[in-house]
Amino acid sequence: MPRGEFKLIVGNMFGNKTGRLMLEVDTLREFGRKRVLIFKPEIDTRSGKSKIQDYHGKTMDALELSIRDPWQALKIVREKESEIGTRFHIIAFDEVQFFPADSPFYLVVDELLARGYDVIAAGLALDFKREPFGSTLLLFAFCKGVQDCLWLNPLCAKCGKPAALPQRIINGKPAPYDSPQVQVGGKESYEPRCYECHELPGRPAPPW
Ligand SMILES: [Zn+2]
Repeated sequence: MPRGEFKLIVGNMFGNKTGRLMLEVDTLREFGRKRVLIFKPEIDTRSGKSKIQDYHGKTMDALELSIRDPWQALKIVREKESEIGTRFHIIAFDEVQFFPADSPFYLVVDELLARGYDVIAAGLALDFKREPFGSTLLLFAFCKGVQDCLWLNPLCAKCGKPAALPQRIINGKPAPYDSPQVQVGGKESYEPRCYECHELPGRPAPPW
C-alpha cells in the first residue's frame, strides 16, 4: 500500500475552512466515488453532536474523537470498515487545532498516511493570542509543497485587509492575554482582524 496523500486547509476563523473541507469531501464522494470518513474533536460543541457545520449552516456527519486519545481514530476506522465491509480511501479531520500540540494527533495522521489513507485536515492556525493553536501548524510537515495546503483568511472586520488573527471579544471589549486559549464560540465572541487592528491587552512585552 503506497503512502497516502495529505492536504491541509488552514487559516483564520470565518475563512470557511469547514465549508472548503465539505466541498472537497462532496467532490470526492460524488465524482471520485471515494469513501470518506470524517472526524471532529469531541470538544467542538458548536456544530452539534456528531456533525460538522460551515458558516452557511450546511452540515455533514462526523465521528467524535477524543482530543487526549486520538489513537482511537485507528480503532474507529477499523471498526467502521468491518461494518461496511470495505476500506475508506480518505480520512478527514475538522477543527484540528483542538488536538493539543503535545497530544499524539500528529503521529495518528502519520500512521494513517503510512497505512495508505489520504488525509485532509482543516484547522485554525493561530489562537486569539496570535500564537500557534494546537496541532494545526505541525501538520505542515506532511505537505510536500504549496499544492498540498490551502490558506483561507477572511477580511479584517475593522479595515477590510486580509485578516490572519481571531479577535476575541468579551462584553464588547478585546479579551485579555491571560484568558484561556480555548473558548468555543462564533460571531458573538470573535471577529477576524489583521495584525494592525488586532488588540491584545496584557500581552507580555518582549525581554529586549
Ligand atoms: Zn485591520
